Amino acid sequence: MVQSSILGFPRIGGQRELKKVTESYWQGKVGVNDLLSKGKELRSHNWKLQKEAGVDVIPSNDFSYYDQVLDLSLLFNVIPDRYTKFELAPIDVLFAMGRGLQRKATDSTPAVDVTALEMVKWFDSNYHYVRPTFSHSTEFKLNTEAGLKPVDEYLEAKALGIETRPVIVGPISYLYLGKADKDSLDLDPISLLDKILPVYKQLLAKLKEAGAKEVQIDEPILVLDLPKEIQAKYADAYKALAGSDVPEIVLATYFGDVRPNLSAIKGLPVSGFHFDFARVPEQLDEVVAALGDKQTLSVGIVDGRNIWKTDYSKASAFVAKAIEKVGKDRVVVSTSSSLLHTPVDLQNEKKLDATIKDWFSFATQKLDEVVVLAKNASGEDVSKELAANAQSIKSRQESSITTNPKVQERLATVNESLSTRKVPFAERLPSQQTKYNLPLFPTTTIGSFPQTKDIRINRNKYTKGELTAEQYEEFINKEIETVVRFQEEIGLDVLVHGEPERNDMVQYFGEQLEGYAFTTNGWVQSYGSRYVRPPIVVGDVSRPKAMTVKESVYAQSITDKPMKGMLTGPVTCLRWSFPRDDVSQKVQALQLGLALRDEVQDLEKAGITVIQVDEPAIREGLPLRSGKERSDYLNWAAQSFRVATSGVENDTQIHSHFCYSDLDPNHIKALDADVVSIEFSKKDDANYIQEFSNYPNHIGLGLFDIHSPRIPSKEEFISRIEEILKVYPANKFWVNPDCGLKTRGWEETKASLTNMVDAAKHFRGKY
Ligand code: GLN
Ligand code: ZN
Repeated sequence: MVQSSILGFPRIGGQRELKKVTESYWQGKVGVNDLLSKGKELRSHNWKLQKEAGVDVIPSNDFSYYDQVLDLSLLFNVIPDRYTKFELAPIDVLFAMGRGLQRKATDSTPAVDVTALEMVKWFDSNYHYVRPTFSHSTEFKLNTEAGLKPVDEYLEAKALGIETRPVIVGPISYLYLGKADKDSLDLDPISLLDKILPVYKQLLAKLKEAGAKEVQIDEPILVLDLPKEIQAKYADAYKALAGSDVPEIVLATYFGDVRPNLSAIKGLPVSGFHFDFARVPEQLDEVVAALGDKQTLSVGIVDGRNIWKTDYSKASAFVAKAIEKVGKDRVVVSTSSSLLHTPVDLQNEKKLDATIKDWFSFATQKLDEVVVLAKNASGEDVSKELAANAQSIKSRQESSITTNPKVQERLATVNESLSTRKVPFAERLPSQQTKYNLPLFPTTTIGSFPQTKDIRINRNKYTKGELTAEQYEEFINKEIETVVRFQEEIGLDVLVHGEPERNDMVQYFGEQLEGYAFTTNGWVQSYGSRYVRPPIVVGDVSRPKAMTVKESVYAQSITDKPMKGMLTGPVTCLRWSFPRDDVSQKVQALQLGLALRDEVQDLEKAGITVIQVDEPAIREGLPLRSGKERSDYLNWAAQSFRVATSGVENDTQIHSHFCYSDLDPNHIKALDADVVSIEFSKKDDANYIQEFSNYPNHIGLGLFDIHSPRIPSKEEFISRIEEILKVYPANKFWVNPDCGLKTRGWEETKASLTNMVDAAKHFRGKY
């Protein structure tokens, strides 16, 4: 019998239950027991769902209150001292590391003020993990204060009568994805391997004691270009981990091609491997050749990163090929990665067009997919399912919804001149300086201001038809005015309208573009309690009419300061949507670039001549390995941005913004934006600043973490700026936060921005 498995299930709940309870807990509205019991309820629901669907290998410990990597840091006691001195409960330590904590003293508790750990993108996805942060004083041990999450959750499932396979990130990936803390910058995390292995071993032994037969150990870094020294660690590390006192280990990789690292894992004493064949089917022969005689092959063929129905006939043929090579009893049909990256349940979509809906498969539907594929491979009769699937696949292939000849014609006109500004930056700069006459250390924000409850309520009313378009516009204008007046009051130089009309920076555009479909409930976790609802690119993309001009023009009409128009760039629109899988990403990005080009030009015509085109996703889209795919990506990503932005006059100032990744200035030069703002507040490494000092155009290095409600003081801003000025030139220095402020409250926004602007003013006198 061929078995079915999944690598992980979304933890957020079909109705975002986890978000609701977590945020209520943070606000002090519910207690810790409510939080924990909701978590338990969600886990139990998910396990039962998988059991009922007939999935054979069901994961546990894929749940998390914030992030699965952060969970490990808490479990292994990788907790910098600054989080331990307040005697917080373990769950609060977890949240403090994830999002920072600032709390006034009470009669019984001391004041707390601590920033969050760095958060970065999980490989090339829009999920963010909290970076393990090590120092010389890190003392690995099992921190049992909060129980032992993997063991506890395994037992919790067992008590429900469900046998599970606990999932944990493996030691080499865990260290490699981490970094050294500020006080220990000379520390190379991988040097801690010998110290952490015994703790992993202890954990595995406890899982075995609890009854776990098998664990899934994720080593996703195996799809990266790994230095030889890292590759060389696998043999000894897994020899040390495996043994009769621990469960059998299935080593999982995903999101890419494992072949260049295959020699590192060949012969490891594990019971099997999982590979991502949805992404890289070509690796089958080589990975099979590296398998030991008894090792199982988990065939990740149901895409964990997208929402298209699996083509059963293709996938079955692939599984059959695998079976031919290693035999039925050694093949497991699986999802390519955890389903964390897909929405929970297509059944929750009541408004989707029935034709299009039939093309999709969300996490819950993917459970059925692995089961059907496994049954089919086992020789069970699933002909009804296969026939229905073939019908859906055909309907999509033949649909006219997906093609627009006009868009395709226009795409053929894209060339170098269409994607190049009239003159180079050095020649544009003087005309921009004359036009805007900005002071040194110009201050600005990244775009969004707090999305208050009031905004959400009114947007909802409007969507439901309880507000007329005029009433809603009036409401939005009032919001814009509040934001504009506030910015004027504290003396910001380049203003924004605050984006109150936008539900989300990608969805908002998707909704106005042709070629897109939307969900009403297709939430996917981005980080912590922040979820996004990616729109779906179903066909050729075009812009029927202006999307943002009205709000920007209104905002400009009520102030004399320059108002920045605000758009989401083509690569980000694409990356934060579910893309088509029937045409290349390049084609989709260029189509988006053309649509945005029209918007940029409409803004310019309407007098909005500072225009920011956000590309926070550009780094995350970078193919995980160097080589042709990566250099091609950098070319088309930059070109699609330039297609969008190059049609403007020399004195129109194009801004761009990037965040949440280790950005390499070389990756963004080709965008040729006049000013870029980057996330920077959590970067401690002076070399990183240095890299940007050579960047030719102007840069705002983000000065505070917008994921945290914490308010930095003016002095803190000043000392941060001073530090940066040691390596970074004053005449290219913009002052801004790390990112948009939509997730923040007004109170902290006001205080933080005021302090930031005051700090900028402090420096103006000095240069
Ligand atoms: N302009 C967007 C905002 O401020 C940018 C958000 C982002 O980079 N993620 O919300
Ligand atoms: Zn950002």
